[in-house]
Amino acid sequence: MPEDRVVIGPRGVERLRMGHHWVYRSDIRAVDAEPGSVPRLFDERGCFLGRAFYSDRSQISVRLVTSEDVPVDRAFIRDRILAAADFRKRIVSDSEAYRLVYGEADQIPSLVVDRYGEYLVMQNLCQSVERIKPMLVELLVELFSPLGILERNDPKVRLLEGLEQRVSVLYGTVPEEVIVRDAGIRFVYDLHHGQKTGGFLDQRENHKAAAEYAKGEILDCFSYHGGFALSVAAKAKRVEAVDLSASAIAAARRNQELNAIENVSFTEANSFDLLKKYDEEDRRFDMVILDPPAFAKNRESIPAAQRGYKEINLRALKILRPSGYLITCSCSHHIPEPLFLQIVAEAANDAHRTVVVVERRTQSRDHPILLTVPETHYLKCLIIRVL
Ligand code: SAH
Repeated sequence: MPEDRVVIGPRGVERLRMGHHWVYRSDIRAVDAEPGSVPRLFDERGCFLGRAFYSDRSQISVRLVTSEDVPVDRAFIRDRILAAADFRKRIVSDSEAYRLVYGEADQIPSLVVDRYGEYLVMQNLCQSVERIKPMLVELLVELFSPLGILERNDPKVRLLEGLEQRVSVLYGTVPEEVIVRDAGIRFVYDLHHGQKTGGFLDQRENHKAAAEYAKGEILDCFSYHGGFALSVAAKAKRVEAVDLSASAIAAARRNQELNAIENVSFTEANSFDLLKKYDEEDRRFDMVILDPPAFAKNRESIPAAQRGYKEINLRALKILRPSGYLITCSCSHHIPEPLFLQIVAEAANDAHRTVVVVERRTQSRDHPILLTVPETHYLKCLIIRVL
């Protein structure tokens, strides 16, 4: 049997040497490996570089798993999952929903496992983690004894791997609705249909952070299921939660009822229009929360995204009372933090507001950032105080 191997050209080798974990198709020199296998990597002189997930379809051909020459087998993957879970035990204290495994940052590239109470949701986003799916299910059952495991394999990136989009129960049963507690608030999740794997777990710690500064009248502009709105409600006089999607508002209302929170109202509207209207009507708030969807999905959309972020941040800053807080987020990987800070600074200048940055936050710690793989850092969350 010929051994599975992939030979990498100098540019790819340099990329790995600098700490990145991906090698692009154009930097592959030779392949003798099955799609979805875990071949050994070599440079052109035959020096061993590591073992990696190999894809014959994606532009990202190779995703480094280990730089050691060890078998990537059941025991290996089990140890990596255990290490990921052990880290979560340290950092997650008051939440039943969190990310258990985050791909590259847990050194199992392209694998996502989210925990929602007794249920697990898995995403297999490259050919190799698709191929080991049965083994992953077995390991997750062995290690965590969930009542059910759902695959949310509907992200579009699967198509780039030549994998079909599918949502199916892989183990046990997964009900249409799962209720989990986060920082004392109960949230209903629809794991089968909700965004991502059901919810925005990456904002979990930012919801709590926002609550520290909450007071008076609060406007939550891209509310989805009310993650921010319901978290800040206890400290507020009243909260208005806004979302364009009727189904998001309906789910947020259910969460409100479930927790018997009475000072949150819901508005189905376009936040761009509503912010403009409130600005023109001289309405004032003590906190405005901006957590829009990614405006920059690729490089080409960066200029339009910048204008979008500038517009909503400008309006939000204009309608804030003195000593008010702006919680402003961007989940566009293509808008790095320095650029986001610059956009908010320009918005503050145009709004004639003097502001201080109270906190520069990012995705929750259960979505760790692999320092040498900038793609793993996508969420920015600034807490800004208007002087
Ligand atoms: N803040 C939420 C997540 C928000 S996701 C949390 O912490 O859980 C982004 C939300 O913005 C989605 O629910 C989407 O329906 C909504 N949305 C997108 N464009 C919008 C617009 N122009 N106006 C209002 N809501 C919008």
